[in-house]
Amino acid sequence: LLSLVNPFELPGRWYRANLHTHTTLSDGQATPAQRVKQYARAGYDILALTDHRTTQDVASLAPEGMLIVSGMEFHPSSPIPNVDYHLVALNVPHGLHLDEKTLTDANRCIDQVRSAGGIVILAHPFWCGMGFEDFRELKGLSAMEVYNATCDRHGGRPSSENEWAHAMDRGMTLPIVGVDDAHSRRGSDVAACWTWLRAASPTAENVAEAIRTGACYASQGPKIHHFGVRGGALVVRSSPVEKIQFIGGPTSGLTRQAPSGRSIVRFSAEMPTWPYARVVVTDASGRKAWTNPLAL
Ligand SMILES: [Zn+2]
Ligand SMILES: [Zn+2]
Repeated sequence: LLSLVNPFELPGRWYRANLHTHTTLSDGQATPAQRVKQYARAGYDILALTDHRTTQDVASLAPEGMLIVSGMEFHPSSPIPNVDYHLVALNVPHGLHLDEKTLTDANRCIDQVRSAGGIVILAHPFWCGMGFEDFRELKGLSAMEVYNATCDRHGGRPSSENEWAHAMDRGMTLPIVGVDDAHSRRGSDVAACWTWLRAASPTAENVAEAIRTGACYASQGPKIHHFGVRGGALVVRSSPVEKIQFIGGPTSGLTRQAPSGRSIVRFSAEMPTWPYARVVVTDASGRKAWTNPLAL
């Protein structure tokens, strides 16, 4: 069922990444160079440029101390009438083109991206009005967005955590990423949600590998320092937060809530009998961080 790594026990270091970004090459309002600067200023290590239906030559951009990953958001038809999938391809060659005929068959598109060396992430299913039944036929996805900050501004459906959890209940386990999906000119939507990737070094191949294997977690602010099994207990350590939750399958979970006005940085629990556990932490401002599931 689960074959994800535990990034908190992997060598390497954490890299902060935004994996879904628009520029003036599609409906974004900042040029690629401006967008790269905005993310460099915000302290990111990795930025993927993912304009609608078009790639760009990332090698021609000044990287400003970051790794710039080539990507594209593409929109094949879904089974829902008049609703297209939003899929984000990463690590694709510049010039990759998915033709209109292919776009009626999402799995053929995904194959085409993968054959070109890329990976595919399911973007904001809840914002699209999609549940697990609507994306269960997609083969070859590497991950899905658990949170897309821009969807909060345009329709109030930023979290696809329920869709992700439900997919897992039904046997489709995908690693998660959190993204900005930035479109603004001045970067007001930059750094609202991001992904921490665990890797030995920041290369496009390592980024794809970290996402695919689950060597990552998503955050709107809180940091997760460690999550794993120690001395027969499930343990998580985080930056100061108000609530820490261990979540197993349906009806399974444990919550530790900080006393009113205080914060907590740790939660441990005697080894549960669940098939897996994942962590959600929530800080005093309501900002969350989500880990991938860890098989128990
Ligand atoms: Zn989209
Ligand atoms: Zn987008």
